[in-house]
Amino acid sequence: MNPDLPPAIFLSDRPEKYRRLLLAWFDKNKRQLPWRHHRTLYGTWISEMMLQQTTVKVVVPYWEKFLTAFPDVKALAAADLEEVLSLWSGLGYYRRARQLHEAARIVVTQLDGELPCQIEGWLALPGIGPYAGGAVASIGLGRRVPALDANARRVFSRWLVGDPHDLAHLKPTHLDQVATLLVDEDRPGDWNEAVMELGALVCRATGPGCSVCPVRSLCKANLAGTVDLVPPAKTAAKSLGVHLGLLVVQWKDQVLLLPPGTGPVAVPTDSPPPVRADISGIHGGLWGLPSTPWLPGPAKGDIGWPGHIWRPWLTAIPNLEYTSVGGDPVLLGSFRHAITRYRLVVMVYGLGLADTLPHMDELLVAPSKTQSGGGEFAETSAAGTKSMGAHFLGIPSPKHPISNLVAKSLRLAADSSV
Ligand code: SF4
Repeated sequence: MNPDLPPAIFLSDRPEKYRRLLLAWFDKNKRQLPWRHHRTLYGTWISEMMLQQTTVKVVVPYWEKFLTAFPDVKALAAADLEEVLSLWSGLGYYRRARQLHEAARIVVTQLDGELPCQIEGWLALPGIGPYAGGAVASIGLGRRVPALDANARRVFSRWLVGDPHDLAHLKPTHLDQVATLLVDEDRPGDWNEAVMELGALVCRATGPGCSVCPVRSLCKANLAGTVDLVPPAKTAAKSLGVHLGLLVVQWKDQVLLLPPGTGPVAVPTDSPPPVRADISGIHGGLWGLPSTPWLPGPAKGDIGWPGHIWRPWLTAIPNLEYTSVGGDPVLLGSFRHAITRYRLVVMVYGLGLADTLPHMDELLVAPSKTQSGGGEFAETSAAGTKSMGAHFLGIPSPKHPISNLVAKSLRLAADSSV
């Protein structure tokens, strides 16, 4: 393939034919999704941010709740980040939520609350790359620009390449050119959605439904019988086994959570170097449980470490008077959990504090104080000396955003009656 040739030459037929066949199929077969019922630019933006790295099925209830809580960009900009993250809890990739919130504030403070009406304006906002910019501009604004996600790349590769040997010559620029050429002039958003819908429902990565595909007569991989070889199967990113301990400290009907950005607070003796001591990149903006670092390999059975690994940290909390607590945390159980490429074995420890423990009120930190940095206590841990806030939150519906990992740990602790 020669990138200097006009992109149309790589297609089996005229662009109009692809458009006619695929749009007719899309009109009949597209999924009924809430953001398609009543299309708005804002709703399209939110859906595109949520859909990155996540399936449609998972996103639908999140999108509905999010739009109810923040019906427009002004409501989103006015919200606390914690409220936004709370509604995002469970969707993962929390950086997207923070960028969404930051972008909303930019729109309100710098653009008079008006969402951009050109792709360039979208591309200037946090969290918007070429794919999301193309999707929002075409679907939400009717601009004639492509939106190339993983599904669309796979579909176009199969349309263009019959001989797997040609894959070495298929450059990203080819796909960009062909994608740009193919966008329908009258229905650019529908076209982009149709390509992605075909990739999600029919032209799947494995086991594509070529016999029912509307463009099978134009698809070079199908005509050559090489669909299984185009594009080549990706080598899966190597997963990494890690283990860690989390501590659930319970007092009355509340549980101790630590503010976003808090690092590990306990380090088992003789530990190998941690795989990841700073997990704020993964769980940034979320409240967490006291934690060990992420250590390499699976834990030895489910035995875990002795409960006294938490003692230096607990002892350093003023007002807790740990010596009067009456015992170290105990291992309640363990579970497995996956985050990005990490395969975690999580050991959950529990410590129940007596209702009558004195001075607990002085440990409680009002949410408003934690946000402004007040209500902190000096903490000396095995990981070093620093200052950090802590907060007891009701277990059933914590106000502050927590990750699935923490939610699972709390469920395990609740089932174990700490
Ligand atoms: S014919 Fe098969 S490989 Fe080609 S676009 Fe359709 S589903 Fe994909």
